[in-house]
Amino acid sequence: TKPSVFKNEPFTDFTVEANKVAMEKALEKVKGKLGGTYPISIGSETIDTGDYIVSINPGSKDDVIGRVSKGTTALAEQAMQQALTTFEMWKNVSPAERADYLFKAADLMRQRKHEFSAMLVYEVGKNWAEADADTAEAIDFMEFYAREMLRLSKTHINQPLTPVDGEKTRMAYIPLGVGVIISPFNFPLAIMAGTTVAAIVSGNTVILKPADSAPVIAAKFVELMKEVGLPEGVLNFVPGDGIEVGEYLVEHPKTRFVSFTGSREVGCRIYERASKVQSGQIWLKRVIAEMGGKDGIVVDETADLDAAADGIVAAAFGFQGQKCSAGSRAIIVESVYDEVVEKVVERTKKLSIGLPEENHAVGPVIDQKAYNKILSYIETGKGEGTLLTGGGPAEGNGFYIEPTVFGDVSPQARIMKEEIFGPVLAMAKAADWKEAIEIYNDTDYGLTGGFFSRDENRISTALNEMHCGNLYINKKCTGALVGVHPFGGFNMSGTDSKAGGYDYLLLFTQGKMTARKI
Ligand code: NAD
Repeated sequence: TKPSVFKNEPFTDFTVEANKVAMEKALEKVKGKLGGTYPISIGSETIDTGDYIVSINPGSKDDVIGRVSKGTTALAEQAMQQALTTFEMWKNVSPAERADYLFKAADLMRQRKHEFSAMLVYEVGKNWAEADADTAEAIDFMEFYAREMLRLSKTHINQPLTPVDGEKTRMAYIPLGVGVIISPFNFPLAIMAGTTVAAIVSGNTVILKPADSAPVIAAKFVELMKEVGLPEGVLNFVPGDGIEVGEYLVEHPKTRFVSFTGSREVGCRIYERASKVQSGQIWLKRVIAEMGGKDGIVVDETADLDAAADGIVAAAFGFQGQKCSAGSRAIIVESVYDEVVEKVVERTKKLSIGLPEENHAVGPVIDQKAYNKILSYIETGKGEGTLLTGGGPAEGNGFYIEPTVFGDVSPQARIMKEEIFGPVLAMAKAADWKEAIEIYNDTDYGLTGGFFSRDENRISTALNEMHCGNLYINKKCTGALVGVHPFGGFNMSGTDSKAGGYDYLLLFTQGKMTARKI
């Protein structure tokens, strides 16, 4: 039996020799198995299409991680038919049984934790701690949503409905139908698995289309779910092109909901396409779209400046700035601006750059397209602010870019407004803390934010005024924990679904009220 209280999976301390050795062994083991082929999975069928998405190591471009069969619209259609049929069975499986598959999968993943992390190191260029955190979060999502389903299934019977004489009323949360899960490359295990299992445990069947640059880790997760005996057809795996496979499924009249995490551009496009009622469609699709950010940290003159500089650097450059929560802006009150900038630059210069498997602080960005885009933003930045450190490519046979800091950036500059999704930090000066908060809020996004201060009044104002889904005081703005910091943003950051939170599963269900005369 499972403990009723959810606890986060602890992060691995790699300064402990035994842990370091265990991770090295896992890296070795996974390296020996790189280059395999992975099929599409629809119901009981595994399909090798002969046409592959080739996943490479962004830190060592010539190394192939694996070849994953590429889906087509015909296979997407086959997956839809399978998911529709399986839904008729799965919706009647008890919540306890559904949750059990998640508990089992969490257990297995925990046993193979370092192997999953090692795959993340190779496939997307995470260093050990970043990979370990991604795997821990995937485990957390499974444990948390399983418990959530159990909780909802028990309490829904006694929802606090207003009682009336002569009636027995009940509110139940029933599943929606077939969901399409479209996931991003940057948390290719945690977000991919989390969004998938949330939908499944709520009683839906799904078609999973993972990110093109991280399909192997998704294939490994699909294997794991098979291993724990998840009934065939509940989770259908169709990697493929965003437009070809993704859009086909988004527009499909039988799609009941879309759970998307990724960029603003794609999220807006999905939102628009899903809103069109297709011929034969008898519902309005539900769209959960978690999108980008232009997150920032505000520092006032009363703050612990060393802690602030630590937070700014960690939030800006963790996983090369490729987190939706990355602190790509820092807004500093004038009187301490120079001091904070100096501390930030000093810390940034100390970050080692190199192969993720060697566990450097900074590794590669995900692919050639991202590399070109980030370097082009850096060139833009050179015209918009003062380059303080970095500013170009770094050495290595991969997509390495120096951690880059720009100072004296105008709040209206492109590098202060647009999501770069790379190791680029823009720093701006504000006359005082109030202006700093105004600058922080002057964005289309609203995902995460940080406020460093020792002044209680200012902190309470910041808590009210800083408009974002996840706000941290005297802490960096990355690193949300499942159950602890439910995650999701405002405005163009998305639908504020609060992944890893207590309301999340309701998004994958519909409320059914019944009243019976007694
Ligand atoms: P992306 O938007 O490029 O791709 C995400 C997914 O959408 C991929 O699987 C892709 O193949 C698919 N896709 C692309 N075009 C499509 C289309 N027309 N129709 C359907 N699907 C399509 O994003 P990415 O580069 O993988 O991820 C990075 C982005 O995700 C950043 O903007 C980041 O801020 C955001 N993100 C947000 C959150 C959050 O919780 N808010 C979390 C992680 C990442």
